[in-house]
Amino acid sequence: MSVNVEAYQSIIKELKQTNTILVAVSKTKPVADIQALYNSGQRDFGENYVQELVEKEAQLPKDIRWHFIGHLQSNKVKYIASFVHLIHGVDSISLLKEINKQAVKNNRIINCLLQVHIAEEETKFGFGLHELENQLHELDGLKNVNVCGLMGMASFSDDTNKVRGEFKKLKSMFSKLEIRNTKLEILSMGMSGDYIIAVEEGSNMVRIGSLLFGAREYNK
Ligand SMILES: *Cc1c(COP(=O)(O)O)cnc(C)c1O
Repeated sequence: MSVNVEAYQSIIKELKQTNTILVAVSKTKPVADIQALYNSGQRDFGENYVQELVEKEAQLPKDIRWHFIGHLQSNKVKYIASFVHLIHGVDSISLLKEINKQAVKNNRIINCLLQVHIAEEETKFGFGLHELENQLHELDGLKNVNVCGLMGMASFSDDTNKVRGEFKKLKSMFSKLEIRNTKLEILSMGMSGDYIIAVEEGSNMVRIGSLLFGAREYNK
């Protein structure tokens, strides 16, 4: 068992001061590890791969709130639509339309965050900061998705000023943006290596894996 319950307790305590929600990122980790953290009180868990999520969901307690934090392909939305609590990485209107369609089929409203590309690196998915504002009108007919916030990933870098600057950009957009005349609620930013900076810059939901579950064996 590689769960670090001590680290969990101290992170939870720290995050409580700013009302920040912890999503425990359990990708590649066994259900026993998730159960162990669940037994310590954790209910929000994040996964990156559809098949892995579906298999774990079937084996674990039903009051877990499952967050999908990976890159979601449209043709796989149907497998998680009946139970997923929040989809973090929505990076196109066409994906949002598919989520809406599957939500209708399941008679649900699915919570979504739009992923915004804030890192300088080319490889990260997401809307451009300005592109998003121009596409918001496309959300109008999509009644079964609740777009309640933004998600972003900073550059993987030791340069904390750079990371901080990227989080600042996202926070500023988060504060300004209104969707259907409503202010956004959730700003998902920060991982094991940068969550402290993210919270300082206004994050209210962090996604932490390796600090809780130990390093992943392979980098996926
Ligand atoms: C894997 C992953 C995390 C957690 O990363 P750690 O560095 O292990 O905390 C957070 N967010 C996303 C989108 C991820 O893919």
